[in-house]
Amino acid sequence: MTHYDAVVIGAGAAGMMCAATSGQRGRRVLLIEHYHKLGEKIRISGGGRCNFTNTGAGPANYLSGNPDFCRSALARFTPRDFIDLIERHGIAYHEKKLGQLFCDGPSTQIIDMLRAQCDAGGVEWWMPCPVDAVSRDGAMFRVATPHGVADAPALVVATGGLTVPKIGATPFAYRIAEQFGLRVVPPRPALVPLAFAPDALARYGDLAGVSVDAEIAFGEARFRENLLFTHRGLSGPAILQVSSYWDGRSPLSIDLLPDVDAVAWLADHRRSSARLDTLLSEKLPRRFAQQWCEAHDAAHPLCEFTADELAAHAARLKRWPVLPSGTLGYAKAEVTVGGIDTRDLSSKTMAALAVPGLHFIGEAVDVTGWLGGYNFQWAWASAHAAGSAV
Ligand SMILES: Cc1cc2nc3c(=O)[nH]c(=O)nc-3n(C[C@H](O)[C@H](O)[C@H](O)COP(=O)(O)OP(=O)(O)OC[C@H]3O[C@@H](n4cnc5c(N)ncnc54)[C@H](O)[C@@H]3O)c2cc1C
Repeated sequence: MTHYDAVVIGAGAAGMMCAATSGQRGRRVLLIEHYHKLGEKIRISGGGRCNFTNTGAGPANYLSGNPDFCRSALARFTPRDFIDLIERHGIAYHEKKLGQLFCDGPSTQIIDMLRAQCDAGGVEWWMPCPVDAVSRDGAMFRVATPHGVADAPALVVATGGLTVPKIGATPFAYRIAEQFGLRVVPPRPALVPLAFAPDALARYGDLAGVSVDAEIAFGEARFRENLLFTHRGLSGPAILQVSSYWDGRSPLSIDLLPDVDAVAWLADHRRSSARLDTLLSEKLPRRFAQQWCEAHDAAHPLCEFTADELAAHAARLKRWPVLPSGTLGYAKAEVTVGGIDTRDLSSKTMAALAVPGLHFIGEAVDVTGWLGGYNFQWAWASAHAAGSAV
């Protein structure tokens, strides 16, 4: 049995950040990772350039059963704090759009930086090393592994969510939460492409690669960015964003002409002999305009429509209802919505309220960011909160 001040399970973004923070405070920290490659999700993130934070990150950019839960951690470790860290490590970066910061070079620079931060804190590693069992003996947590048994008064679970199982994701955090009596908000894939039902796929499937600047709404959530047709359905930033809010049952509402007063625009052309799909091609990809008009029996000369028919088409272009058949699941999702219920955690330290010393951080917790660097910022901030406490 080896004794530590803290054992951190999962050496992803949050786990490495937490171990480094605690280690640099003079604590003896063990980091256990079961996968044979380090930081795979960081490596593949942001198309290989890691969108490591968002300068505008705030509570409004996160989904959670308690939208205020993330406030304290985000305020105590800000995007500026992470930028300072990467500047100290000489990592060059740039803003792509909407406050999204990416590395100029490969995202492995972020993994190397976190590793160096752990080294600076004297963090010990067991990797690759599965965890066989976790138990509690008085004030101590005992972690049994094939490498031996470690015990510590603090255990931090940083094993992430369920996305991309082929690079190491497991439901470990949820199992530990259940073992110690914490509630788990049912997880589901988020920031995920959506599948068309067979009839829509037959109509729009060969538009794969076509993109449309659209505003997509579901309930109160509303995102204006690109929508991309794929050979299975819909993707692109606007779809990924809204997917996190979609209930899986009700249609999305897509505004295909977000900058246009469609009623007035179509009315202005109501005497034209041009077909509606030809007019729409001025503002939408031509092949999509044709398919959309055929689907809505609208591929006719504008002068043949009554004023009411034109107004109805205008309304449909502004609120095109699309009911996907489902998502493409955890294999294609960027994050997991749901996780350890924030009602059972301290927002200051990420510790379980009823189990002193047991902490959950990162994506395992029921806090999920939008697309655009928000998820890493939550990983850094929640890790820093726990790492400052253990
Ligand atoms: C393709 C893709 C691109 C993304 N791009 C971005 C982006 O650009 N910007 C952004 O903000 N977010 C992005 N994300 C989301 C981001 O990667 C995650 O939100 C973030 O990595 C979560 O950090 P984490 O440390 O909580 O979990 P993870 O990074 O998933 O780390 C969890 C670690 O725990 C390990 N583990 C799991 N189970 C066990 C176990 N039983 N025992 C021991 N170890 C275990 C895993 O192997 C892993 O190393 C992307 C995600 C994907 C899939």
